[in-house]
Amino acid sequence: MSNIVAIVGRPNVGKSTLFNRLLEKREAIVDSTAGVTRDRHYGKSDWNGVDFTVIDTGGYDVGTDDIFEEEIRKQVQLAVDEATSIIFMMNVEEGLTDTDYEIYRLLRRSNKPIYIVINKVDSAKEELPATEFYQLGIDKYYTLSSATGSGTGDLLDDIVKDF
Ligand code: GDP
Ligand code: MG
Repeated sequence: MSNIVAIVGRPNVGKSTLFNRLLEKREAIVDSTAGVTRDRHYGKSDWNGVDFTVIDTGGYDVGTDDIFEEEIRKQVQLAVDEATSIIFMMNVEEGLTDTDYEIYRLLRRSNKPIYIVINKVDSAKEELPATEFYQLGIDKYYTLSSATGSGTGDLLDDIVKDF
């Protein structure tokens, strides 16, 4: 069975940046079937010799949270339906938002493993502000800088362990 990791989160948190980083030196999967990849992007990646597929669910992004009702709900549904593991990404720059609470509420209805990632932690000084995300009621999160790649190794170690 193939392992599929979906990256979910509000617009602008950094989903596509992480997606592109995971696909480095690999090609995105192009499916010419109409409608299949219009709103999402698939790619192949691997970590420590373990292959997996990544879905960037952010094809809907228009740069605002106002699209939540139709678009993010679809994004979450897609992830829950297709993925074997879910990366739920937020970012320390904008902090914890109402939309984040709502996405997390929807994601938790699934029984899929959810990895909570706080992106844009580009240096040690963002580690302390990131602690506000414990307010979601979570035990663990991963701090990441998708821009530099720092933190991605620890996240991937744990994701592939659970496959
Ligand atoms: P998406 O809408 O969730 O797919 O977000 P993008 O990947 O398009 O990123 C949105 C913006 O955040 C872009 O300007 C990125 O360059 C920036 N960005 C992404 N990851 C990081 C990061 O780790 N640190 C910083 N400082 N900026 C980031
Ligand atoms: Mg995007």
